[in-house]
Amino acid sequence: MENRDAVLVEKISALKGRRNAVLLVHNYQLGEVQDIADFIGDSLDLSQRAAETDADVIVFCGVHFMAETASILCPDKVILLPDINAGCPMANMITAERLRAKKKEHPQAPVVCYINSPAEVKAESDVCCTSASAVRVVESLDAREILFVPDQYLGHYVSTKTDKKMVFWPGFCPTHVRIKPERIKELKKEYPQAKVVVHPECTPEVIALADEVLSTSGMCKYAQRNEVRAMVVGTEIGIVHRLKKENPDKKFIPISEQAICPDMKSITLDKVISSLEELKPEVKVPEQIRLRAKAAVDKMLEIGRES
Ligand code: SF4
Repeated sequence: MENRDAVLVEKISALKGRRNAVLLVHNYQLGEVQDIADFIGDSLDLSQRAAETDADVIVFCGVHFMAETASILCPDKVILLPDINAGCPMANMITAERLRAKKKEHPQAPVVCYINSPAEVKAESDVCCTSASAVRVVESLDAREILFVPDQYLGHYVSTKTDKKMVFWPGFCPTHVRIKPERIKELKKEYPQAKVVVHPECTPEVIALADEVLSTSGMCKYAQRNEVRAMVVGTEIGIVHRLKKENPDKKFIPISEQAICPDMKSITLDKVISSLEELKPEVKVPEQIRLRAKAAVDKMLEIGRES
């Protein structure tokens, strides 16, 4: 660690103590931000941690919908998002108004909403899911037809694992579509022993070439298996920092160096310090929306606990 970073880390630690704050950090964050995490994980891990913590302040090092989810689960806590402009382009591909119109076209279909969505959209949904729990959530519903929003590719992946009729919203992650099947074919030739592991936000053509399709936390667990010595990684490249740190003797090859989410990378140590000093920017979901969104998030967490 550089001297400057060591000073910043010390400052963050003191501020955390003063504020009784906890730092929840997504797997796609910058390496130096990952290294100061109290908890690091994917959306599901972090929403569970947010629900359980007794800290007064949660600093969410992730994007806006994640901080909103923490606010939905913990209305009495202060939820800080160190860069208020850190959004998710996929989440912004849907609005509550457009979803209400779509629901009228499919009145019998429950809405399963990927957690990468605005709170207002969760409030219009029957149940949320994460990439780790999407198949389980869809299978748990007593309905023949499902309206799945907003990620068409995660929806498509789920449809290959269930007999239910799935209606997709045309959203997608601009970072994951940069991962191309042609590059996987090249890497398979170059590293024939490596396991190809991709995220379900990737396109069906990419998923078809994978050995495993996993959430980011699923990837971290999988990498620890003895038989995995090298892994071709198909997700946002921030995960490679954690994979290398936890498995220093193994090889991790990102499929695309361009698979970078600029929003995830906008949070820095300096911004974490400012947010703890000033207790802002704060993310707070209005109560009327929060209560309806919470029903959908709670249902997801319940299904997670049952499995
Ligand atoms: S990686 Fe994709 S889905 Fe995740 S926050 Fe960035 S744009 Fe959204």
